[in-house]
Amino acid sequence: MRSSEASSVIVVGAGVVGIACAHYLSKAGFKVTVIDKGSVASACSFANCGYICPSHVPPLTEPSAIPLAFKSLFNRRSPFRVKPSLNPAVLNWFWQFTKRCTHKQVLSSGKHLQAILDASMAEYHALIQQHRFECEWQEKGLLYVFRTEHAFEEFAKGDKMLTEHFGVAATRIDGANLSKMEPGLNDDLYGAFHYPSDTSLRPDLLNKHWSEYLKQQGVQFLENCELKDVRKESSRIAGLSTSRGDMSADHYVFAMGAWSTHWAKQIGCSIPIQPGKGYSVTLDRPANAPSYPMLFPEEKVGVSPFETGLRLGSMMEFVGYDTSIPPYRIQQLRDAARPFLRASVDGEAKETWYGWRPMTWDSLPIIGPVPQMGNAHLATGHNMLGMSLATSTGKLIAEMLTDQKTHIDAEPFSPARFGKKEL
Ligand SMILES: Cc1cc2nc3c(=O)[nH]c(=O)nc-3n(C[C@H](O)[C@H](O)[C@H](O)COP(=O)(O)OP(=O)(O)OC[C@H]3O[C@@H](n4cnc5c(N)ncnc54)[C@H](O)[C@@H]3O)c2cc1C
Repeated sequence: MRSSEASSVIVVGAGVVGIACAHYLSKAGFKVTVIDKGSVASACSFANCGYICPSHVPPLTEPSAIPLAFKSLFNRRSPFRVKPSLNPAVLNWFWQFTKRCTHKQVLSSGKHLQAILDASMAEYHALIQQHRFECEWQEKGLLYVFRTEHAFEEFAKGDKMLTEHFGVAATRIDGANLSKMEPGLNDDLYGAFHYPSDTSLRPDLLNKHWSEYLKQQGVQFLENCELKDVRKESSRIAGLSTSRGDMSADHYVFAMGAWSTHWAKQIGCSIPIQPGKGYSVTLDRPANAPSYPMLFPEEKVGVSPFETGLRLGSMMEFVGYDTSIPPYRIQQLRDAARPFLRASVDGEAKETWYGWRPMTWDSLPIIGPVPQMGNAHLATGHNMLGMSLATSTGKLIAEMLTDQKTHIDAEPFSPARFGKKEL
C-alpha cells in the first residue's frame, strides 16, 4: 500500500459523488480540495427523490426501453422522451444503448450494479451510524404501488426475476391491507410490492451536513470555481486552469456528472454520457401526507415524504443540455400522483427543479483510472442511481489512489471499457 501522506487531490465537481470521493480520500489521509463551478451539490444531487435503493438492480437498458423510446419520438409529453438529434455523439450513444437492451445485458449489468448498490448501502449504514447527519434518514423500505391488476402482475414478472437472479425479495401487499400499512394511500388501489431493505433521505440535507463535516476535517471546498482547462505533461496532468486561477495536485478526480463528457478530449479518454433530464416539485407537507417513500410505476412518478415537505419526482428526457422547467411537466407530476394519494398535491410549489442524470449507454457508472493518464481518475456516469452509489464510489476511488485491493470488483466500471478516443 502506497503512503498517502502529504499527497494532494483535487476533486472536480461537488455533487454527491464528489463529496463522497472527498470523504474517503480525506479519511485515507489525502489533502483534498473540491472545486465546483456552482455551489456545493446544487446540480443533479440537489432535489432528487433521495432513495438509497439496492432494489434498483435492473438497468435502464432493458428490452422494453426501445419501444418506449420510439413512441416518445412522437409524444413530447411522454415521461420517457427522446428528442431526435443528428449529433453524431448522440446518435452513437443511442445506437450503443439500443444494442444493449437485451435480457442478457439486464442480467450482466444487473450483477455489477447489485455489487456496488449493496456495498454502497453498507457504507451508508456505517456513515449514518457514525456521523448521525440530520438528513431525514429513514429505513422504511420502498413501496411500488399499483392501481390496476394488469400493471401489478406485469411488475410481478420483474419482481420474480429480481428474486430468482439477484435474491432481492419484496413483500406483496394486497389492496385491502395497503391503506392500513400506509394510511396516506387511497382505498381503491390494487396492491403494492414492498422492498424492505431500501432506505431514503433528504438529499440537500445529506449534502449540506456531509460537506460541513468534511470542511471541519480540513477538506477545502472552492465554490464558483470552474474548470477551464487541463494542463498535461507526458501522460500526466500537470495542473488545472480554473476561473479562480491555476491549481495543481498530485492526483485529480473528475466527478462532473452530466458535464463529464465535455472533458473527454482534454482528459484523453472516451466518456459517453448523455444528460437524462428529470424534474421534481416540492410542496409544503400536506395533511394526510404518506410516510413511506414510494413509486407509482404505472405513472412513472416517485413520492418522497419529508418532515416539512412532499416531493414528487420523475421523467427521463433525452433532450440535450436543456435548462427549462416547462409548467406542463410540473402539472404532470401532480396529475400522476393525485389518484394514489389522500393528500392534496395541488398546494403551492415551494420548489420546482430539474436535474441532468449522467447517463451511460451500458447503465453502469464510470469509476477508475483514466487510461494512459497517470494521475487522473473518473467518478461519474451514475445514471439514475448517483445518490445510491456515491459511498461505494468514493471508497473505490480512495482504494485505487492508495493501491489497495478494492472492496468490490471495479473492472466493470473502468473508463477503459470505452477505449481512448472520444466518439
Ligand atoms: C428527478 C430525479 C430523481 C432522482 N432520484 C434519485 C434517487 O432517488 N436515488 C438515486 O440514487 N439517484 C437519484 N437520481 C439520480 C442522481 O440525482 C444523480 O445520479 C446524481 O445526483 C449524480 O451525482 P453527481 O455528483 O455525479 O452529479 P452532479 O450532482 O450533477 O454534480 C456534478 C457537479 O460537477 C460540477 N461541474 C460540472 N462541470 C464543472 C466544471 N467545468 N468545473 C467545476 N465544476 C463542474 C457541477 O456544477 C455539479 O455540481 C435522480 C435524478 C433525478 C433527475
